[in-house]
Amino acid sequence: MRALIIGIGQCGTKIADIFSLVDFESLAINTSRGDLDYLKHIPPERRILIGESLTGGKGVNANPVLGREAMKRDLPMVMKKISSIVGYEDVDIFFLTFGFGGGTGAGGTPVLAEALKEEYPDSLVVAIGALPLKEEGIRPTINAAITIDKLSKVADSIIAIDNNKLKEGDLDISQAYERINYTIVERIASLLALIDVPGEQTLDASDLKFVLKAFGSFATVGYAKARADQVKSLSRLITRSFESEGLYLEANVESALYGLVAIHGPPEVLKARDIFEALDELTGRIKGKQIFRGFYPDPRERDVEVVTLLSGIYESKSIEDIIITAKRYAKSFMKAKAEAEEKKKTLLNGLPDFDDIYP
Ligand code: GDP
Repeated sequence: MRALIIGIGQCGTKIADIFSLVDFESLAINTSRGDLDYLKHIPPERRILIGESLTGGKGVNANPVLGREAMKRDLPMVMKKISSIVGYEDVDIFFLTFGFGGGTGAGGTPVLAEALKEEYPDSLVVAIGALPLKEEGIRPTINAAITIDKLSKVADSIIAIDNNKLKEGDLDISQAYERINYTIVERIASLLALIDVPGEQTLDASDLKFVLKAFGSFATVGYAKARADQVKSLSRLITRSFESEGLYLEANVESALYGLVAIHGPPEVLKARDIFEALDELTGRIKGKQIFRGFYPDPRERDVEVVTLLSGIYESKSIEDIIITAKRYAKSFMKAKAEAEEKKKTLLNGLPDFDDIYP
């Protein structure tokens, strides 16, 4: 299976850079020359500066309207570069990585997603976005709401990762982001690495594509891990990857359409009966009633690891909070604006035309 990772904006290109480190075909797009220079693993010829005529290579200052404009202006150049990388071999999935709360990624990703869908109708276009931290304030929340709206109309799936769920308390923000970025790449890369691995109960590209072709709805990743000698109940460990403590987004599992689960561990722990018990129960709980499964017994493993992908999610507190906050802000902003205009009118009412006073 061929995946092409395209990072957009600072957050997105940092994530794509880690994908490049673990040997995925990656590309970086940004309006900030400085941020592109900062990348370590994506080769310089795979770094594209967009919107230079608009920003002089200095970034869009978290303004998604400018981010959108920058991508639109340089779309022919971006698509040409992508086409030269794609060549004659089909890409199964384009993964677009970005931060929902900024400008270049938030504004540019929906524009690029739409163009890719048009140019490569047989490929999936899947966005992987980090949701802003609560403490970042209102602006990233509004940027995220705008982007959720636009992306949901063009992408096949939006894999949302809530930074609030993954942030570890004791780290400063840049360390915390770096840790989150590695976690995102590890999970997605481990799933992709398992696709088409020969074996009995394994996952193939069509399983992954089925799960991710979910009409622009949300998807997320779940994870659970334990030392093999401490696993009392494998069913319980699997179930944990579907619950709030395992999922990278606050989401109602019952609202999901499809799932995909990869389970790794020493063969004596991966008992088929336990796996089927957990997955049958979980399949019954989700709406689309389908969970694709792969078991990967490995005698060298000391841990049991469960990586889950849930798609077609329609109920997510992480997303709802953003939309509700943005709507509330828009309402109070419009009200304040109308009041200010009214006040201005009242204040200036009756003021004479001073042109007569200064003949
Ligand atoms: P852009 O360059 O204009 O697209 O803006 P950024 O990529 O800096 O996006 C800003 C948003 O992404 C912020 O609201 C943060 O929540 C988030 N963010 C920024 N950097 C990172 C990162 O390295 N990792 C993660 N997970 N989130 C990030």
